Parts: sequence; structure tokens; C-alpha cells
Amino acid sequence: MEKNEEIVLRGLPISRGIGIGLPLFFSNTDDNIPETNVSKHCIESEVERYRQALHLSRQDVERLQHLSLNDGPPEIVNILGTHLEMLQDPLMTSVMEDKIRAICKNSESIVLGVIDEYKKRFRNIKDGYFQERVRDIIDVSRRVLGHLRPVQSMRLCSVPTNSIVLAHDLVPSDTVEASAGQIGAFVTASGGITSHAAIIARAKGIPYVAHVDIKLFRRFDAGMVIVDGTQGIVIVNPTSQTLKKYQSLKKGQLQNFRLMQSATHLKGETIDGYQVRIFANLEELREIDFAIRHGASGVGLMRTEYLLFSRKRFPTEDEQTAIYRKMAQRLEGRPLVIRIYDVGGDKKFDFEPASPDAHYFAALGNEPNPALGCRAIRFMLRFPQLLDAQLRACLRASQYGDVHILIPMVSDVSELRQVRARVAKISSEMRRKGMKVARSIPIGCMIEVPSSALLCDALAKEADFLSVGTNDLVQYVLAADRNNILTSNIYSPAHPSILRLIRMIIASSSRFKKPLLLCGESAADPVMIPLLLGLGIREFSVASRNIPLVKHIIRKWRILDACQLAEQALEYYCADDLKHFLEERISSLNG
Ligand code: PEP
Ligand code: MG
Repeated sequence: MEKNEEIVLRGLPISRGIGIGLPLFFSNTDDNIPETNVSKHCIESEVERYRQALHLSRQDVERLQHLSLNDGPPEIVNILGTHLEMLQDPLMTSVMEDKIRAICKNSESIVLGVIDEYKKRFRNIKDGYFQERVRDIIDVSRRVLGHLRPVQSMRLCSVPTNSIVLAHDLVPSDTVEASAGQIGAFVTASGGITSHAAIIARAKGIPYVAHVDIKLFRRFDAGMVIVDGTQGIVIVNPTSQTLKKYQSLKKGQLQNFRLMQSATHLKGETIDGYQVRIFANLEELREIDFAIRHGASGVGLMRTEYLLFSRKRFPTEDEQTAIYRKMAQRLEGRPLVIRIYDVGGDKKFDFEPASPDAHYFAALGNEPNPALGCRAIRFMLRFPQLLDAQLRACLRASQYGDVHILIPMVSDVSELRQVRARVAKISSEMRRKGMKVARSIPIGCMIEVPSSALLCDALAKEADFLSVGTNDLVQYVLAADRNNILTSNIYSPAHPSILRLIRMIIASSSRFKKPLLLCGESAADPVMIPLLLGLGIREFSVASRNIPLVKHIIRKWRILDACQLAEQALEYYCADDLKHFLEERISSLNG
């Protein structure tokens, strides 16, 4: 194999779209850069090593600039121009070289020192221009650092623009900081389709392929990399012909997305006039405007546990109230479903020991099976002061809109009863104090573990609404970890057992006339949408950027055809046979 030959790697497609850029090894472990002394007689070769890293960084930026001229938004071209100037600035050349000679330390520790110095110096200057310049200096320095030390500890909000991020694994706290403008794509060695990191990548529109042997990148001197998140393909060192092909594919996909986006104000309605409501799944307050612009009927799932990532502690009752209130107000009467913190499982919070909230997670110890452990409502009932603060915040926000409370990972009716009793107690306390609270606040259950699916009759009777979480339901019904690559062939929402359960849940909800929402990732899967429609789902909740796609597909179907499809699908009892049937039938119909 030639070192610069085009190489095609196959992996698991996780998030659609095409990313083109330079590879960057991302390590999320706290891998401190060591500071080492360099003797006087080796100092010139250390300076030379630094020059070489600078030279490679310039080449990177030039390559990206060239690429962006055909392909990228003008802002990126301008930013890269600034970066190129910086890499030629004495600050990065002669001043830095002099520093290495004077201090006699390894170059990476000196570059890191410069980054820290800038961060400290400009920390308190709020001026946007200065902040941007500091970000540029840090961005450029990190690129140089990347060449001095290929694996380093970093955060995804501070990697060089358009990076193709290679990592063994990604956790939600990494991806939550990433932005599509900055990250070209993700490529990981592990990770599953509905891991929380994958959900965030899709919500942000960052292409992602998992199950790729990232060690190979070191072997063949990876230059440019193309990631096709739709097909699950990663191309290293593409030929100019391949590059052109993917640049035009990327352009086409973007145009397609914009076209669907421009029709997102249309109703979610089948050809024969059946109304379907499409809600948004949100992780952060700032996504609310994006959701509304994309025509969301409301927020079907607010994953409140994401409020912990940036704070590294639980938000206070007042902080929560302010966030929920703003969301409710922005929604102007449309529903806002606030889910109680779903912490635990793959959403772990290793708060610093000094954090006031460290004891909550420390108390759990090392659970042998976190996914089957003290997660979600189980965790919250163990720490009632956290639950009450969250319920009180929901109740305080309820006077500003149509607030609903959703309980994650319900496995028994008693969990619903306990939450309901606490809500009743807190509401009457608040009223006694003269505080305003909505007359009644709907309380719903997530149906995402087998026991709640089997008890859906009882839950439909007692709850005010139900929400099917297929991400977890599939993992627990099929006993196939949603994050494990080795079980990704088993993990599928289009499994005969799951279809039968969804049919059962729909029947219970209609028997007790309770609203039913489906908020797992399958609600945005082009193959699953018509099937779910045919089974009887009329409320979908998906990442905001998928609302146009879901509407587009729903508007192409007649309810009668969807029902017929579901009936035929229910005749299958082998997952593979069902998969082939669906792929054949649906790809021709969805268009
Ligand atoms: C689900 O399990 O389907 C769901 C929506 O919840 P989460 O993905 O946050 O676990
Ligand atoms: Mg879940």
C-alpha cells in the first residue's frame, strides 16, 4: 500500500451528510502535556521540530483554504486567511523560537503556555472582536500542537475548523460542545447508533461514521479525509476525482436539505388529509428558536440532564425555572414536555470531587451494569430533594405555557404514583404561599423498558400521556446495548418484537384516550416513519433539524398505504426478512 494512496474504509453510518477536511486525533482523557527540559546542544533541533510543525500547519490551512474556495461559506475562507497570517506572524515564528531557546523546554509545553497566557489575559475582556482574535490564536496554536503531539487532550469546541475528528469513543459531554461549522465529521472506533453522542451529532447535522479502525490513519499518513455519514464510508487521501465527486454530492445534499427546509412551514399531513404533529427533541434552551423556525408543533422532549454538562453540577431551582419559563414563553401555548433528569447509564457525570454535587454520583459507586442500574427516575427517587427542586421549577414555569412533566425509565406504576403525589403536595404548598401554578399539569410516562411496555394498559389508565422511547426500548427488549458495536446488528427498531410492542402501546393509549408520542430516533428514520404512521403513531418528536425530513416523508404517504405496509410488516417474525422487505418497499416509495 502506497502511503498516499486513496483508501476506502467502511464503518457504521451514524449521522447523515458529508464531511471533508483534515484528520485530528481527539483524546478525551485528561492527557496532560508533559514539560521536559531540552539541553543546550539539542535546542536547535527542538527549534527545527517546531518550525516543521509550523510548516505543516501552514500546509493544512492552505489546503483547507483551497477546499473552502470551492465549497465553504465565505466566513470560513476569511477565518482561514487570518489563520495563515498568524502562522507567519513573528509571534508564532521568531518570538516563539526565541522562547524555546531561552526557556530550554519542549516546544509543546511552550505552545501550551502561550495558549494559557492568552486565555488568562483575555478572560475578562468581553469585547467580541478580542474574543474572536483570542479564539483564532488558540485555534492556530492547537493546530501547531497537533503536529508536535498527534494525540492530545482537547475539547471539541476548540479544535481547528473543519476537523475530521478521530476518536476511540465520544461521550455526550464532548459532542454537546461541538458545532457543525467547526467539526467536519466524526469517525470513531466504537459507539452505537442511538448512543447519546450520536443523537447530538445528528441533531447538530455533523456527519458521523463509527466502527472504523482509527489506528490505520497513522499508518497511511492521512492527509485529506472524506466522511460519508449516509453510506458509512471514510475515504483517506482521496484522488482529485473522488474529491470533486464528494464536493458536488455535498452541495447537492445541502440544496436538498434547504429545499425541504423551505417547505417546513407546511402541515404534517398525509396525502389523504390525516394530521400528524411533529415536535422537537431539545437538549438546550438556545435550540428553541431553531425548533420553532423548523415548524415544530411544540417540544416533545426536553432532555434536561444536558443542563448539567456545562455547569458540572445540578442547576438550581431558580436556574431551571428561568430556563423552562423562557421555553414555555417562546412556545406561545404550544406544549413543552420537560423530562425529569435522565442521568446515569451512558449519561455519567464525573463531577470534580470539590463540586457540591459530587456526592450524588459518588454514592452510586461503580455500578456493574449502569444501563440496568440507578438511572433516571430510580436515581431521582433516591434523591428526593433533586426531584422536588425540578418539579417545583416545572410548576413555577407552568403559568407561562403548556408545561408537561415526563418521567424517564418508568418500570412500574408506583413510580408514576410517587411523582404524582409529590407534584400534588408541592402544588398545594405553592398555592398556600400565594404562588401561581397551572390548574393541572399533565404527567406522562416514557415507555422504554419492557415492563412498562407490558404494563402499558395500566400506565395509559393512570398517566396523562405516554411517550415511546424506542432508543432504550430496543436496547432493553432485545438485550442489545445501544452503544455497543458488537450488538449493532441486533439493535434495530424495525424488529418484529418492537413492532408488536408499539402496536400494543398504541392500542392501550387509544383505549384510554391518552395522547401518545414517539420520541426515539426511529421517529426520524425514513424507513420507520411510514411504518410508525401505519401502526397508528400520530405524534412524532425528533431533533429539530429532522422536522423538515419527517414532514417531507409524511406528506408523500396515504394513510391506507401506510396501514397496509404495517400489516404486511407485522406478518414477519424474522428481523432480517423484515429488514429486506422494508428496504425494498420503502426506498422506492419515499423517494
Ligand atoms: C429513548 O430512549 O428513546 C429516548 C428518547 O430517550 P434517550 O435517548 O434520551 O434515552
Ligand atoms: Mg431513553
